[in-house]
This record gives sequence, C-alpha cells and structure tokens, in this order.
Amino acid sequence: MPNQATEPSAPDPNSAVMPINERPPATMVRGEGSWLYDEDGRRYLDLVQGWAVNCLGHAPEVIVRALARQAQTLIHPSPAFHNAPQQALAKALVSRCDLDRAHFCSTGAEANEAAIKLARKWGQAHRAGAATVITTEGSFHGRTLAMMAASGKPGFARRFPPSVPGFRHVPFDDLPAVAQALGPDVVAVMVEPIQGEAGVVVPGADYLHGLRTLCDQAGCLLIFDEVQTGMGRTGPLFAHQDAGIPPDIMTLGKGLGGGVPLAAMLARESVCCFDAGDQGGTYNGNPLMCAVGIAVLEAIDTTGFMHTARARAKELSRGLDGFVTDGLAVGHRGRGLLRAIELARPLASAVQHAAYQRGLLVNAAQPTTIRVMPALNIERDDLQRALMLLREAVAQVLG
Ligand SMILES: *Cc1c(COP(=O)(O)O)cnc(C)c1O
Repeated sequence: MPNQATEPSAPDPNSAVMPINERPPATMVRGEGSWLYDEDGRRYLDLVQGWAVNCLGHAPEVIVRALARQAQTLIHPSPAFHNAPQQALAKALVSRCDLDRAHFCSTGAEANEAAIKLARKWGQAHRAGAATVITTEGSFHGRTLAMMAASGKPGFARRFPPSVPGFRHVPFDDLPAVAQALGPDVVAVMVEPIQGEAGVVVPGADYLHGLRTLCDQAGCLLIFDEVQTGMGRTGPLFAHQDAGIPPDIMTLGKGLGGGVPLAAMLARESVCCFDAGDQGGTYNGNPLMCAVGIAVLEAIDTTGFMHTARARAKELSRGLDGFVTDGLAVGHRGRGLLRAIELARPLASAVQHAAYQRGLLVNAAQPTTIRVMPALNIERDDLQRALMLLREAVAQVLG
C-alpha cells in the first residue's frame, strides 16, 4: 500500500511525550522480520532496523521465546546476585574473542562509560594516573555527557557546557596523528573499527593494526567501540577480527540485544581492575536481557546463518554498484550489512523522505550519505525490493 501523509509534523500538542526530534506522524504498532507496520496498516520495508539493532529482524521467534521463558523464571534478582543467563552470556562472548571478562549494562553509551572508567582505573595503577583518552573526529560513542565529549561529531562536545574533559580528538584513519597525540598523559585510544554514524567510514586496511602497534609501543590501552559493528554486522562476529588484532577493551550494544536494551564491556584479564564500588548499575547483568543476548548469539552461530548474511551483503553491494553505474550515487562503501551510498549533492534527507513515502526505511546519516543496516537475515526478495524502492527514491529526488 502506498504511504501518504508522511510530511514530518510539528510537535503534537496533544502528546505528552517530550519532543526531542522530528518524527513522521505514523505510530508503529507491529514488526515482523524486515517489515514494520503502522496503525493504519501501512507497511515499511525496514533497512534501519531500530538503528542497526534488530540483527534478527523484528520480533524474531527466538527472542520472543527467550523473553517468555526467562520472564516466567526470573526477571530481576538485583545485580548483587549471580544469575545464570549473565554467566552463560559472558562465557559465550569471551569464548568468541580474545577478551576474558564481560560486564553487562543497558546501552552502548553506558558500556563506553564503563570502558573509560576501567581504562582510567588501570591508568591509576599502571600508568601514573594517565587519564586522557584519544578519540577520533567524526566518531560517535553515545549521548551521556562524557560520551558526547568523547564523540567527534562536530559541535557535539559544546552543546551542554561545561564539556567533560579528558578526551583528545584526532582525524580518523590517520596513524601519524595518533602517534603525535600519544603522550604520558594518555591512557587509551578509543575508536570504532568502522565509523557508523559518521556515514559508514571504513579505514585503510592497516589502521587497526597500526593502532595496536602504537598503543603497545606507548604502553596504553586500545578500546574498540563495536556497539554498531559488532555481532556479525560487518561480516565477522566482531569487525576487528578482520584485522586480526585484539583490543584490550571492547564495547558492544545494539545487535547484542537484538532489540532489547543490552550492552557489554569486555576486557582482557590484566585490565580488569575494578574494585568493589567502582562500577554498578541497577540493571547490569539483568537475566531477562542476558537471556535474549544468548538467543541472539545462538541464532548467529546457527550453521549457515552468517554464510547467508554474507551472501546478502554481496547482493547488496552489487545492487549499490548499479547505483554508481547509473549515476544515482557517486560511490558506496561499507562491510557486510553496514553500507552507505554517497550522493553527489546534499540530498540525503530528501531521499530518506522519498523512500519513506514508498514504504522503505533508510537513514540519512550525513547530508550526502544514505546508510542502510538491514536485518542480518533479510530475505533475498526483500533486499531486492528494497534496492528497487531506494533506486526509485533517489531517481525521484535527483529529478
Ligand atoms: C549507537 C552507538 C553508541 C551508543 O549506543 P546507545 O545504546 O545509543 O547508548 C555508541 N557507539 C556507537 C559506535 C554507536 O553506533
């Protein structure tokens, strides 16, 4: 069914929800796989998936079942006690990377805060109190006060002065800049293996490796924010595994919970230095969320799952090649099922809107950049349909 009445509206005076951004007027009521349905029965082919969150699509059976089963057993014992899903998810995650322990929380920003706290605590013990963290321009690490300061989104750090100190920004994918910024006051370098919100910016092949070497030489920690790139989004389970080098600390979120608020901070044993009282959070390790994390990981581990996701990624990449060939885009980039097309002119918002009117959800990540992050298990037909709708939307906007 064609979508109508999709002009973004002014904040609704009849709504009690605090306006924080422009939203289309539709109210979403149901989701199934790659499809989202609004209250008027319109359906949308969803290539945003809750912001790269729903790696198994909307309302996948395995998550519904995990939630129901765990909800009937134990929802929240309090973080003062062990619980089985937390133990199992931590084991499952550390067995799939070179890190040794996991701490669970609810959001990516919270996981990154935990990573910075752990790094600074480590710096107190091992690096004479060094506390500065090098981050990159264009990066996005979340919306807490400290993570807005850590992020390299233009203007982000100055929105709610005073800005949290202790972050030094360098250009992304620039090893000499990191080398120059490293000093005795630096405790860690924190980067996204691929910058997501910046518009899917993929660094050169030697970047992560080079960061590892620089951090080792300087004696500081390397932190990968894999909140967006983790959980199979870019091909391997964690994006840094393509580079073949491990970080000292890694954060996860988004896809880890497949749609529920679950995030994690993982670290090497030698870095795990929190003392009692240093770290907490009412919902940390909540078994209801961790049970979902286990279900997500099991689904991704299922034979053939990632193989199929990589096949879809190839089809997506090939489809976007066509956009360039036909002059609809000047380029496309990305890994796995995290992709973006680059437009010749700053028309991304118009394209997002035109796509929405056709029943397709994509994200204008930057003025010239359209980002797509479909479910890892998107069906081939849905992907082809999405490419066709996006093509129509871009063509319409370009006139
Ligand atoms: C989304 C995102 C975050 C923030 O996660 P929240 O759950 O919104 O706090 C942090 N880092 C990266 C790379 C992200 O994409």
